[in-house]
Amino acid sequence: MIAPRARAADRLLIISNRAPYSLRRRGHATELVRSIGGLSSTLDDALRKRGGVWLAWSGSVARARRGRRRPPPRSMPVRDGGYRLRLLTLNDEQVAGYYHGLSNRSLWPLCHYFPTRAEFDEREWKVYEAVNRLFAHAASKSVPARGITWVHDFHLALVPRMLRSLRPSARIAAFWHIPFPAPAVLRIFPWAREVVIGLLGSDLIGFHTGDDATHFMECARHLADADVAFGRGEVAYHGRVTRVSSFPLGVEAKEFDRIGSDPEVLDEVRRLRLSLRMERLILAVDRLDYTKGILQRLQAYERFLAARPEWHRRVCFVQIQVPSRESVPEYRSLREQIDRAVGRISGRFSTAEWTPVRYLCHGFGRRDLAVFYRAADVLLVTPLRDGMNLVAQEFVATRGDGDGVLVLSLFAGAAERLREALLVNPYDQSAMQRAIERALVLPTVERRAAMRTMRRRVMTEDVDWWLGWFLAAAAVETSPRRARRPRSRAARR
Ligand code: UDP
Repeated sequence: MIAPRARAADRLLIISNRAPYSLRRRGHATELVRSIGGLSSTLDDALRKRGGVWLAWSGSVARARRGRRRPPPRSMPVRDGGYRLRLLTLNDEQVAGYYHGLSNRSLWPLCHYFPTRAEFDEREWKVYEAVNRLFAHAASKSVPARGITWVHDFHLALVPRMLRSLRPSARIAAFWHIPFPAPAVLRIFPWAREVVIGLLGSDLIGFHTGDDATHFMECARHLADADVAFGRGEVAYHGRVTRVSSFPLGVEAKEFDRIGSDPEVLDEVRRLRLSLRMERLILAVDRLDYTKGILQRLQAYERFLAARPEWHRRVCFVQIQVPSRESVPEYRSLREQIDRAVGRISGRFSTAEWTPVRYLCHGFGRRDLAVFYRAADVLLVTPLRDGMNLVAQEFVATRGDGDGVLVLSLFAGAAERLREALLVNPYDQSAMQRAIERALVLPTVERRAAMRTMRRRVMTEDVDWWLGWFLAAAAVETSPRRARRPRSRAARR
């Protein structure tokens, strides 16, 4: 139910590619199944408290038929939720162009600094535009009179501007959940300017890191010729001012802390450690993606084992890898390369009593994940590029014992807030090997001091704190004053 004191100004319209619920058919009825945990649960909770609408793609795909009228969004109340879910059905051509094509094959690799993996197809761009327009039109019917309209992520970059033209007085905020690249990289995208001015339809744009926010402002300046006040975080374009800032996302820290100190979980931690019979347990947890640097990490571990035989039979590396995009040939090929690397390491170093690497290719629930987090001596989070990375923060939140070493990529957004981790360049194999060695022998005092500081931050700046911070910023009236173009290059920052 909506809290009785929810005010009109609190109402929300959330627009995202996927919804926090999936539809499941039961006989003739359709029921909503809530996705577990993470940001979508937090946003779902916020909507329950404030009331409003969540607009998203239903996730199902209809067959495209020429001349057939598009079905209106399905609208249904979220039971005990106090808000409505509006779900758009997309056809196979739309899903292929907008989602698999432009979003996953163009913007995803480019924004993660893999331009050579990015493919650009004008037809897919047209479909992306058309689907964004579909979202904007559907959204225009649900814009809360005084509340906030919140657009999420790179799938919907054009929605803020399109919606602005339909509802000029709407209060629109956008959050970009992946890295935002520097102009030299974004301009590779043939429609870079459209993406930038699409986002500039917002009153506020949030990013995970200060670098991402700065990159966006640089792109606005160089690709859209907008007036940018870097110091104030304001971009003026066609007489409107958009505020730009970083809001690093937190995790459900209290929940991970609670699970991590549950006596039954601690029993499982002891059983896991006994079954592995290892002095040191190294852990990594990733969704299968080339951005996560899984292959490079395995290669570094192999180098470490080759160079440090004194660690043989004393250490075990557990790689949890959640399957993802299995129908995409590129992801299948990556999976095969990783399989081969694991096989090579096992074949090269295993003995009758010792398995140096355990490779678990399936997803775990939060509780089981917490068992691994709590059992590990070292967590390797070494993506080649990552918007934020929640696994690193969840590990810290779970470590109520104050122990554990985090090895963290310099290129994960989380490195901006977890500066006490052992920071490493994942492209540098020698540095990776040294980081593994150092993590295994780091003195207790240093380990605990680093974990204490990181925990203080992760426990306070959790996902609820993030939500309150972002929504408070989004509720602030944007000043009509124009950002002024800086006179000199030096004055720009
Ligand atoms: N996760 C999970 N089960 C697993 C592995 C991961 O539920 O077996 C969750 C993990 O708790 C985290 C999310 O998946 O919340 C991964 O988020 P992250 O930002 O680290 O990476 P992403 O996959 O979003 O790029």
